[in-house]
Amino acid sequence: MTLTNLCRSNEIGANSFLVEMPGASVVLDTGMHPRVEGEAGTPKLGLLRNKKVQSIIVSHAHLDHLGALPLLMRQQPDARVFMTEPTYFIGQPLLHNSASIMKKRFAERATPNQPLFTHHEVDEIVKRWQACHLNQMWSLEGHRHIFQGGISLEMFDAGHILGSAGVLLRHPEKTVFYTGDINFTDQEICRRASFPESGIDTLIIETTRGTTAAPAGYSRQSEWLKLAERIAHVFERGGSVLIPVFALGKTQEALHALHRMITAGNIPPSTIYIGGMSWKLTQWHDKLVQNLNLFDRVKPQLMDGRQIRRIQPRSGQIYLISSGMMTENTLSHMLAQTFLADKRHGIFFIGYTDPESPAGRLRAAAAAGEPVRLSESPNTHPIKCDVGAFDLTAHAQREDLLDYILKVSPKHVVLTHGDPPAKAWFAETLKSQRPKLRVTVIAPEETVEL
Ligand SMILES: [Zn+2]
Repeated sequence: MTLTNLCRSNEIGANSFLVEMPGASVVLDTGMHPRVEGEAGTPKLGLLRNKKVQSIIVSHAHLDHLGALPLLMRQQPDARVFMTEPTYFIGQPLLHNSASIMKKRFAERATPNQPLFTHHEVDEIVKRWQACHLNQMWSLEGHRHIFQGGISLEMFDAGHILGSAGVLLRHPEKTVFYTGDINFTDQEICRRASFPESGIDTLIIETTRGTTAAPAGYSRQSEWLKLAERIAHVFERGGSVLIPVFALGKTQEALHALHRMITAGNIPPSTIYIGGMSWKLTQWHDKLVQNLNLFDRVKPQLMDGRQIRRIQPRSGQIYLISSGMMTENTLSHMLAQTFLADKRHGIFFIGYTDPESPAGRLRAAAAAGEPVRLSESPNTHPIKCDVGAFDLTAHAQREDLLDYILKVSPKHVVLTHGDPPAKAWFAETLKSQRPKLRVTVIAPEETVEL
């Protein structure tokens, strides 16, 4: 059995892996790089050109795991695609949104890259998606009945966002568990991961937070309260708050938490604005999660992209706007320029930010007391407003990931989904704690025996 890394680079980008085993080839995730446009931002699908992929498994609907699925399905028209039920529903508007953005940017000559896929293609590929319940075994042909000694897949709740799952591949030769993105603590909406803890030969695990030690006494609740305090200060001096967030997952988590803290009096009464994509995905959360009712309870306001240049942020307003990394041409990127120029306002981050993204650069510049470069152009903006970051990531703490690896005690661990120093921390720590454990850091385009 082998594993091939289809990612083009050694960072968190377009996640995708091929597992080849006697009797089947399975692709795990087919993501799109959040910062790189065109083919360069997709997995190296050319490596699959002369192969036949039976099954594609999507761990969750974040675009760095799902975004290039139409390209893989174009190349592998007979492959079956497995995902959880929420991913089945929320994956569709996300891919349509990507198609719209690529079309618009090409039409406006903002990019030389032709759109990678069309709305029509998204509608077509969905017909071959299969939604699977968690904790049930499925054959790679999509049946619930598994023959003794056959190959099967089973999904387990990963606790990262709605619908996120780790995937257990059982083969007579070996059992492989691919975690996707994980959270081992309860969040506002998502309960912690519920993963298998035994019977795993090879564990393919994410390492996003490998460079960040959990601070002593850390809790999500205390981080939310710290954020509430800073928001209250901003409002007191007549300012408004921008929180750049991902449309999927973080928006709904933050709506829930902000409303809870407003109700408890930690934050003065506020109006929360969200963008169009967040609006759609919040509607899906309300449909899929029992008794969530975010729209009824929180009453967010829709912020139309066409209004953005005319907005005059005021006290009592929270702009919970995507993208979380303030990628260029997104609403949060445009709005940031208004916020940076006024010392009354605040820009607060509550999730992972790639150090190379505008959000990562703003955090670093604010810490260094320097002006920030928000785009590819050399122009910089002075930072007049309050800038803060709160540790409310949807990824597991590295200590929890390490505990999980040690508890599972597999024969082989493959470290993925982390910047090189994050993977190196896990490799070194595991080497000192479990010298006999085989640990692999798989390079882009490399194939390893499992
Ligand atoms: Zn994710």
